[in-house]
Amino acid sequence: MTEKILGIDLGTTNSLAALVFEEGPEVLGAPGQSPIVPSVLHRHRQQWAVGQEALPHRTTQPEKTIYSIKRLMGRGFDEIAEERNHLPYSIVEAQRQLVKVQIEDQEFTPQELSAEILRKVKHQAEMVLGEQVYKSVITVPAYFDDAQRQATRDAGRIAGLEVVRIINEPTAAAIAYGLDEKRDGYVAVYDLGGGTFDVSILKLTGKVFKVIATCGNTHLGGDDFDRAVSQTLKSQIWQDRPNLDLNDAMAQQVLKQAAESIKIQLSSSPEAEYHIEIPEKSLSVQGKFTVAEFEGLIKNLVEATLESCQQALKDSGLTTQDIDEVVLVGGSTTVPLVRRRVEVFFGRPSHVAIDPYKVVAIGAAIQGHLLAGGRRDFLLLDVIPLSLGIETLGGTFSKIVTQNTTIPTEASEMFTTHVDEQTSIDINIYQGERELVKDCRCLGNFKLRGIPPMKAGLPLMELTFHIDANGILTVSALEKRSGQTAEIEVIPFHGLTNYEIDQIMEDSFEHAIDDFNDRQLIEFRNTMERVFRGIEESWEMAQTVLTTKQQEAIRAQMQVVENYAQQKDPQALKEQMDILGDLTRSLADAAISSAVFTELKNTTENTPPPTETST
Ligand code: ADP
Ligand code: MG
Repeated sequence: MTEKILGIDLGTTNSLAALVFEEGPEVLGAPGQSPIVPSVLHRHRQQWAVGQEALPHRTTQPEKTIYSIKRLMGRGFDEIAEERNHLPYSIVEAQRQLVKVQIEDQEFTPQELSAEILRKVKHQAEMVLGEQVYKSVITVPAYFDDAQRQATRDAGRIAGLEVVRIINEPTAAAIAYGLDEKRDGYVAVYDLGGGTFDVSILKLTGKVFKVIATCGNTHLGGDDFDRAVSQTLKSQIWQDRPNLDLNDAMAQQVLKQAAESIKIQLSSSPEAEYHIEIPEKSLSVQGKFTVAEFEGLIKNLVEATLESCQQALKDSGLTTQDIDEVVLVGGSTTVPLVRRRVEVFFGRPSHVAIDPYKVVAIGAAIQGHLLAGGRRDFLLLDVIPLSLGIETLGGTFSKIVTQNTTIPTEASEMFTTHVDEQTSIDINIYQGERELVKDCRCLGNFKLRGIPPMKAGLPLMELTFHIDANGILTVSALEKRSGQTAEIEVIPFHGLTNYEIDQIMEDSFEHAIDDFNDRQLIEFRNTMERVFRGIEESWEMAQTVLTTKQQEAIRAQMQVVENYAQQKDPQALKEQMDILGDLTRSLADAAISSAVFTELKNTTENTPPPTETST
C-alpha cells in the first residue's frame, strides 16, 4: 500500500476527507456517522467545539460561533468590508491589514480557525483509519489567488498536516470522474454549495486541466433556499398567530432546521412533512410542503446561476455545444430543479454518479494517491488564475507571469531606475488583469537595497517570479551591473510569514507580532542613523542653501525623530522620519550627488517605482 495522503475538501459550509483504498476512493466517516464536518466553530470556556456540535450555536450564540471562515482566508481587512456585513462575529484589523476574529478578549487569525477545522477532519480520519496521517492534498476554489492559497497551506501546517499540494476544486471534481483520462476537450464544473456558487470551464489537453474561465456569486447557495422556505413557514405561522415573535435566535434556529430538512426531503420525494415545535411559545404546527411550492421559491435563484454559466462560456469564447462533459459539485446540486435546469442549459446529462458533496474530497484523494506513487499515470498541472507582476512608473501594472500560465513556472524580466543615485528600489507585487495597480490586488512588497549610486537607467535589475506546483509565489531580484544580489523576503500582505506560523505552532501569535515590530524598529533606527550622518556631512552646504528657519526646523525634527527612536512604535517613528524627509527635500535636491540623500528620499518618501527597460 502507498503512503497515505488525505484528500481534504475544506469548504465554506462543510469539510471532509477522503482516501484511496485498495477498492477505490472513499470519504472517511466513523461507522454509522456522517463524514461531513460542518465548517463551524464555537468558543466555550477557552476551548473550541468544532463541526456538528458547534452548529446549533450559530443562532443561539452568534458572537461566539464562527462560520464561513473560508471567506476571510488570505484577505486584507479592506477587502472584506462586504463580508463583514453578513457575518455576526467580530472581525478586527491587525498589523499589515491582517484580519482577525475577536471573541471576548481573544483574537484569532482565519488560518488558525481553519486549522481547527482541519484538525477535526484529520482526527476523524485517523479514528477511522486507526493510524495517524501526516500529509494532505487540500482543495481551493479556482478563483483563489496566491495569498488565499498560501493561507490555506498555512492552516494545514498549523493543524500539523503537510500540504503536499493545493488543487482547484473543479479540477478535483473532474479527476474524481476520471475525465483526465478521456480525450481532450472542455469540461464545465457547476458547484452550488451552502453559501457560494461558482462555475468553471476546464480545458483538458493531454491529461492536463486548465481553468480557462470561472464565474459565480459568492453569496448564493443552499442557505438562500433555506431562507426562502423559512420565510414561507413564518408567513404560514403568522396567519394563525399574527403577533408571535419568530425573530429571536431560538425561533430562527428551529425554523432554519425545519427549512433545511424540508429542502433535503424534497430532493428525493415530491412532498415533505414538517412538524415545528417551540414549547416556550406554545407553538406546535404541522404541515406539508410540495416540490412545486419549493421550486416556485427558488426558481429565480437557479436561473441566476445559469446566467453565470452563460457568462463563463462567453469569457472562454465557447458555446454549450463545445462542452464535452458537465460535472455537478456541492450539496445543493442534489436539488432536482437544479439538475434539470443545468441539463437543459448544457443540452446533455451531467455527471452525478458520485455524491456531489463527496466529489471534491474524492478527487483530492485520488490526486494524493497519485502523488504518493499510486497508479493512474497522468500528470496534473494547474494554471495561475490571474496575471502576476509589479508596479512600474506612474502606478502602472507590468505583468511578468500572464494569466493561465501552467504551473510550476518561472519568468524573469529586466527593470531599471528612473532617479539618479537610487540605492534602493521598492518592489510592489500585484495580481490582476487591469492596467493600473490601483485596480489590482497588492500581494506584498519588498525593497532591493545596496545598489551602488548610478545614473538613472543604468542599474539593470532582474526580477524573477517563481511559482511552485501549489501556486505559491516567490519573487527574487538581482542587480546585474554590480552583481549585487539583495537578501529579500516577500511577505504577502494578507498571509503570514513562515516565522509567524512557527510561533503560532510553538507559542502564541502575539509573540510573533512583537518580534516583527522589533525587527521593523531596528530597521528604521538603522536608516535614521544613516540619514542623520548624511545631514551632518552636508550641513555646511545646508547653511548656504537653506534659510535659518529651515535649518532650525530640521534640527528640531531630528530631535523629535530621536525621541521616537527611543520608543517602541515603528510606525510612529516612520511617520516622523517622513516629516524629516519633507523638511530636507530642498537640501537633498541641492546635494543630489550624495548617495545618502538619495537614500533619505527613497526611504522616507514613497520610493519612485522602477521603470521597465526596453530589453
Ligand atoms: P460548501 O462547498 O459551501 O462547503 P456543500 O457542498 O457541503 O457546501 O453544500 C452544503 C449545502 O448543500 C447546504 O446548503 C445543504 O443544505 C445542501 N444540501 C446537502 N444535501 C442536500 C440535499 N440532499 N438536497 C438539497 N440540498 C442539500
Ligand atoms: Mg464546496
